[in-house]
Amino acid sequence: MSGNHQRVPEPRPGLRGVEPYQAPQLDVPVRLNTNECPYPLPPAFVEDLAAYLRDAKLHRYPDREARELRRRLAERLGVDPEGLWVAGGSNEILQQVLLAHGGPGRRALLFEPTYAMYPRIAWVTHTEVGRIDVVPPFVLGPDHVRGAVAAGAEITFVCSPNNPTGNAQPLEVIEELAGVLPGLVLVDEAYVEFGGKSAAGLVESCPNLVVVRTFSKAFALAGARLGYCVAAPQVVEDLRRVRLPYHVSALTQAAGLAALGHADDAMAILDAVRRERDRILEALGQLEGVEVFPSDANFVLFRPRRPVDEVWQGLLDRGVLVRDLSDVVPGCLRVTAGTPEEVDAFLAAMDEVAR
Ligand code: PMP
Repeated sequence: MSGNHQRVPEPRPGLRGVEPYQAPQLDVPVRLNTNECPYPLPPAFVEDLAAYLRDAKLHRYPDREARELRRRLAERLGVDPEGLWVAGGSNEILQQVLLAHGGPGRRALLFEPTYAMYPRIAWVTHTEVGRIDVVPPFVLGPDHVRGAVAAGAEITFVCSPNNPTGNAQPLEVIEELAGVLPGLVLVDEAYVEFGGKSAAGLVESCPNLVVVRTFSKAFALAGARLGYCVAAPQVVEDLRRVRLPYHVSALTQAAGLAALGHADDAMAILDAVRRERDRILEALGQLEGVEVFPSDANFVLFRPRRPVDEVWQGLLDRGVLVRDLSDVVPGCLRVTAGTPEEVDAFLAAMDEVAR
């Protein structure tokens, strides 16, 4: 008997050219590279979560429609549960939207620079990508609306506040895009609790609008993987056709329900985060040669004078991890607003490194 000489088959053409998503997860004292909330939910949340878990019947599949979670979340947002959908992080919502509305021969339009997962998920779902470049201060206006009309994509992405630039987009422009485009307009509001105006209130009058949100940032629940969208009931219906059965686990649903009981605690902390963001904006603005971009989010994009890889490494050598975004915005780094102590450490390191 000869051994098995078969080899690992080739995957889909092009797949090996795609890097796995890899924001470094390094064990350093100050991690300011993935825009999480620096404060956990209060101990009472953990108590509530433990109570949910004691009742959880993990030998059974979870509620496939996450009805209780959607009902409570819809109540909080003042929308109908039929027009609200949940998934494992807002990334999964994005993927479901592309599965339902993208695909071969269909196109997603991006205003760049923006969140790098959009083109990546588009590729995975065989969706073509169209791009419109937006120049600093990265604010969308009538020219971009005209460009989007000309592009005629099936899905147009607007990230507001935009990652990585930090600025929110005018609600009027979003409303106009939804009014003139026949395709879906997906507004990614992962950071909206920190600044900018939500487009969720427009969904009722704009049935082609999908507003995507997450528990990962302001809700301090990145580890639970829970995201959601507000959309027309028909859009939700179509997402249900592409989702995997039981895609939101009982553990995640429990975490979401417990967190909703502490929503006010989570929101009360945001002022402190915004204060630290503003402190970063001001301090970086005073560093000679550093270009700083205004932010409505919980992070700040900046362009140091010195080469970006040297500054990134210099900060890391001092125990501070930030995000190198030079492949998205040339020469730029992005730092998350952390605790006052973390921000102190970042600014002290910048003072040494960026001169
Ligand atoms: N949208 C934007 C703009 C983001 O920055 C992120 C997280 N980096 C996400 C969506 C995805 O977040 P999650 O899947 O944790 O909800």
